[in-house]
Amino acid sequence: MQVALLNADGQPLQLITQEKAALLLYKGVALACDNHEVAKVFRSISESIVVTKAIQLVKFVKYIYDHKVEVAWSKKGVINRDKAVCQYCGKEGSKTVDHITPKSKGGRNTWLNTVASCKSCNTFKDCKSLRKAGMKLRKQPKRPTLFDVLSGAIYLKGG
Ligand SMILES: [Zn+2]
Repeated sequence: MQVALLNADGQPLQLITQEKAALLLYKGVALACDNHEVAKVFRSISESIVVTKAIQLVKFVKYIYDHKVEVAWSKKGVINRDKAVCQYCGKEGSKTVDHITPKSKGGRNTWLNTVASCKSCNTFKDCKSLRKAGMKLRKQPKRPTLFDVLSGAIYLKGG
Protein backbone atom coordinates (compact mmCIF):
# COMPACT_ATOMS: atom_id res chain seq x y z
CA MET A 1 0.00 0.00 0.00
CA GLN A 2 1.28 3.42 -0.86
CA VAL A 3 1.35 6.57 1.20
CA ALA A 4 -0.04 9.92 0.06
CA LEU A 5 2.53 12.67 0.21
CA LEU A 6 0.82 15.96 1.00
CA ASN A 7 2.25 19.39 0.45
CA ALA A 8 2.56 21.69 3.47
CA ASP A 9 -0.85 23.16 2.58
CA GLY A 10 -2.46 19.71 2.61
CA GLN A 11 -2.72 19.32 -1.17
CA PRO A 12 -1.80 15.82 -2.36
CA LEU A 13 1.42 15.69 -4.36
CA GLN A 14 1.94 12.04 -5.20
CA LEU A 15 1.87 8.48 -3.90
CA ILE A 16 5.11 7.10 -2.56
CA THR A 17 6.15 3.80 -1.03
CA GLN A 18 6.08 3.27 2.74
CA GLU A 19 9.88 3.01 2.73
CA LYS A 20 10.26 6.35 1.00
CA ALA A 21 7.74 7.87 3.41
CA ALA A 22 9.72 6.51 6.35
CA LEU A 23 12.89 8.09 4.99
CA LEU A 24 11.22 11.49 4.65
CA LEU A 25 9.86 11.24 8.21
CA TYR A 26 13.25 10.15 9.48
CA LYS A 27 14.90 13.13 7.80
CA GLY A 28 12.31 15.47 9.28
CA VAL A 29 11.23 16.67 5.85
CA ALA A 30 7.68 15.45 6.46
CA LEU A 31 5.46 14.73 9.44
CA ALA A 32 2.99 11.93 10.04
CA CYS A 33 -0.65 13.01 9.96
CA ASP A 34 -2.40 12.15 13.21
CA ASN A 35 -5.79 12.14 11.57
CA HIS A 36 -4.78 9.32 9.21
CA GLU A 37 -4.51 5.65 10.03
CA VAL A 38 -1.12 4.10 10.60
CA ALA A 39 0.17 2.32 7.48
CA LYS A 40 3.28 0.77 8.96
CA VAL A 41 5.69 1.12 11.83
CA PHE A 42 9.39 0.84 11.02
CA ARG A 43 11.54 -0.08 13.99
CA SER A 44 15.26 0.29 14.44
CA ILE A 45 17.22 -0.33 17.62
CA SER A 46 16.95 3.23 18.81
CA GLU A 47 13.64 4.43 17.49
CA SER A 48 10.50 3.66 15.60
CA ILE A 49 9.04 5.56 12.71
CA VAL A 50 5.28 5.57 12.41
CA VAL A 51 4.18 5.98 8.81
CA THR A 52 0.60 7.15 8.45
CA LYS A 53 -1.47 6.69 5.30
CA ALA A 54 -0.73 10.30 4.48
CA ILE A 55 2.30 12.34 5.46
CA GLN A 56 2.70 16.07 5.13
CA LEU A 57 5.71 18.08 4.07
CA VAL A 58 7.05 20.54 6.60
CA LYS A 59 7.96 23.09 3.95
CA PHE A 60 5.75 24.05 1.04
CA VAL A 61 7.04 22.74 -2.27
CA LYS A 62 6.13 24.52 -5.47
CA TYR A 63 5.44 22.02 -8.12
CA ILE A 64 4.35 22.05 -11.69
CA TYR A 65 1.54 19.87 -12.95
CA ASP A 66 2.74 16.35 -13.51
CA HIS A 67 4.06 16.54 -9.93
CA LYS A 68 7.52 17.39 -11.15
CA VAL A 69 9.45 20.00 -9.30
CA GLU A 70 11.40 22.51 -11.25
CA VAL A 71 14.83 21.91 -9.85
CA ALA A 72 17.45 24.45 -10.78
CA TRP A 73 20.27 22.81 -12.70
CA SER A 74 23.65 22.82 -11.03
CA LYS A 75 26.92 21.00 -11.61
CA LYS A 76 26.82 19.72 -8.06
CA GLY A 77 23.31 18.43 -8.62
CA VAL A 78 24.37 16.50 -11.73
CA ILE A 79 27.28 14.91 -9.89
CA ASN A 80 24.98 13.95 -7.01
CA ARG A 81 22.35 12.54 -9.34
CA ASP A 82 24.97 10.33 -11.00
CA LYS A 83 26.57 9.55 -7.61
CA ALA A 84 29.89 10.83 -8.97
CA VAL A 85 30.11 7.80 -11.25
CA CYS A 86 31.45 8.58 -14.72
CA GLN A 87 28.53 7.88 -17.06
CA TYR A 88 30.93 6.76 -19.79
CA CYS A 89 33.44 4.45 -18.12
CA GLY A 90 31.95 3.92 -14.65
CA LYS A 91 34.85 5.40 -12.72
CA GLU A 92 33.87 6.45 -9.20
CA GLY A 93 34.69 9.83 -7.73
CA SER A 94 34.13 11.55 -11.07
CA LYS A 95 33.61 15.19 -10.35
CA THR A 96 33.48 16.86 -13.73
CA VAL A 97 30.34 17.47 -15.75
CA ASP A 98 30.19 16.60 -19.43
CA HIS A 99 27.75 18.08 -21.92
CA ILE A 100 26.32 15.29 -24.08
CA THR A 101 25.62 17.76 -26.86
CA PRO A 102 28.65 20.00 -26.50
CA LYS A 103 28.14 23.64 -25.63
CA SER A 104 29.88 24.58 -28.87
CA LYS A 105 27.12 22.72 -30.74
CA GLY A 106 24.34 24.44 -28.84
CA GLY A 107 24.11 22.00 -25.93
CA ARG A 108 22.78 23.63 -22.78
CA ASN A 109 23.09 23.26 -19.04
CA THR A 110 20.11 20.99 -18.51
CA TRP A 111 19.53 17.82 -16.52
CA LEU A 112 19.07 15.82 -19.71
CA ASN A 113 22.16 17.14 -21.47
CA THR A 114 24.71 16.76 -18.72
CA VAL A 115 26.26 13.80 -16.91
CA ALA A 116 28.99 13.19 -14.37
CA SER A 117 32.21 12.27 -16.12
CA CYS A 118 35.78 11.55 -15.17
CA LYS A 119 38.51 13.86 -16.40
CA SER A 120 39.84 11.43 -19.02
CA CYS A 121 36.44 10.75 -20.60
CA ASN A 122 35.64 14.44 -20.50
CA THR A 123 38.93 15.32 -22.20
CA PHE A 124 38.56 12.50 -24.72
CA LYS A 125 35.01 13.42 -25.66
CA ASP A 126 35.87 17.11 -25.76
CA CYS A 127 33.52 18.86 -28.15
CA LYS A 128 32.59 15.79 -30.18
CA SER A 129 29.14 14.30 -30.30
CA LEU A 130 28.64 10.91 -28.64
CA ARG A 131 28.59 9.20 -32.01
CA LYS A 132 31.73 10.92 -33.26
CA ALA A 133 33.53 10.10 -30.04
CA GLY A 134 32.28 6.51 -30.23
CA MET A 135 31.08 6.74 -26.64
CA LYS A 136 27.96 5.40 -24.99
CA LEU A 137 26.08 6.49 -21.91
CA ARG A 138 25.65 3.89 -19.19
CA LYS A 139 22.16 5.23 -18.58
CA GLN A 140 20.03 8.03 -19.92
CA PRO A 141 20.15 11.10 -17.68
CA LYS A 142 16.92 12.03 -15.93
CA ARG A 143 15.42 15.05 -14.30
CA PRO A 144 15.48 14.81 -10.53
CA THR A 145 12.19 13.73 -9.02
CA LEU A 146 10.44 15.38 -6.14
CA PHE A 147 11.59 12.49 -3.97
CA ASP A 148 15.24 12.95 -5.00
CA VAL A 149 15.05 16.51 -3.84
CA LEU A 150 13.16 15.86 -0.61
CA SER A 151 15.40 13.03 0.44
CA GLY A 152 18.47 15.15 -0.12
CA ALA A 153 19.82 13.06 -2.99
CA ILE A 154 19.86 16.19 -5.09
CA TYR A 155 21.00 19.42 -3.62
CA LEU A 156 19.22 22.50 -4.70
CA LYS A 157 21.09 25.44 -6.10
CA GLY A 158 24.13 26.29 -4.06
CA GLY A 159 23.39 23.47 -1.63
ZN1 LIG B 1 35.20 8.05 -17.51
